[in-house]
Amino acid sequence: MAVYSQDDLFDLAGSPVLGAPDGAPGLEMSNPEREKLRLIHERLCREYGCPVGYFHELSPLDELVSSLLSHRTRNSESGAAYKELRRRFPDWVAVRDAPTAEVQEAISACNWPEQKAPRLQQILGLVTERRGGDLSLDFLEHLSIPEARAWLEELPGVGPKTSAAVLIFSRLRRRALPVDSHHHRVAQRLGLIPMSLDVGPAHRVLEDMLPPEWDAQMVYDDHEILMFHGQRCCFYRAPECARCVLLDLCPDGQARLKQAAARPPKGRARPGPDAGL
Ligand code: SF4
Repeated sequence: MAVYSQDDLFDLAGSPVLGAPDGAPGLEMSNPEREKLRLIHERLCREYGCPVGYFHELSPLDELVSSLLSHRTRNSESGAAYKELRRRFPDWVAVRDAPTAEVQEAISACNWPEQKAPRLQQILGLVTERRGGDLSLDFLEHLSIPEARAWLEELPGVGPKTSAAVLIFSRLRRRALPVDSHHHRVAQRLGLIPMSLDVGPAHRVLEDMLPPEWDAQMVYDDHEILMFHGQRCCFYRAPECARCVLLDLCPDGQARLKQAAARPPKGRARPGPDAGL
C-alpha cells in the first residue's frame, strides 16, 4: 500500500490530486482538510456500510433526557436507567415534580444518579419556565440550527455534544455533529484536528469541515462511522494500524508502524555496549 505523509497531504503548493491506493478518488487540494474528510468518509462508509440506521426515534425532550443520563456511562446502563424512568413515571412533568430521591432511585443503573437526578429535574423545570409552562422541545424544529443549539447550551450541563445529539439523534433529524471520545480520538490521530484540541472545541472545527452539501443523514453517518472505527480498529490503547483502511491518510498510524518496525523482535535484547568484545 502506498503511504503518504501528512506533509504530502497538506502540501498546498503540491500537485492538485494525490491518487488513492485502491483506485478511490484522489485528494483535491483546494480545501485539504475537507477533502481528506471526504476520503475518510468514503473509505469508512465502504467498511461499515452507509447509510447507517438511526438507533431510535425519540422526541427532542426524550433525547435530551437520554443524553443527560448517558454522560460518562455505558450505553447499556444509561439505556436501562432511561427505560426505568419511563416505566415509573407517566411523563416528564411527573419526573420534574417527583421527590428527587425517587428519580435518583429510578436512574440508579447509570453513573452518578445522585448528581444526575437533581440536574435532570432542574433542567425540566428550566425548560418549563423558559417555554412559558410548556414542557417540550418540539419548538426547536422552527429555530435555525445555531439558534437551537445556543438555546439548549444555555441549560446547565448541556454542551455541544448534547445539543448536537438532541438535534440529530431525535426525530428532528437536523444537521448537527456530535463528537464522542472515539470520534475525537480518531480525528486527532488522522490529523483532522490537532492532538491538543479538546473534545468541546473540536465540535466547531469538525463541523466547519463538513462538506456543505452533506445532508443530516450524511452528517449522522460521519459521526457513526468514525465512532465505529474507534470501537473496532482505532482502539484507545493499541490501534490496529496494520489492518486499517485509513493508514495511508493517517500520520499517527504511520508513525506507530515505523516505531514498531524499529523495535527489536521480542525475546532478542539489543546488543549492549560490550557486545562483540
Ligand atoms: S492508522 Fe492506526 S491510528 Fe490511524 S486511524 Fe487507523 S488505526 Fe487509527
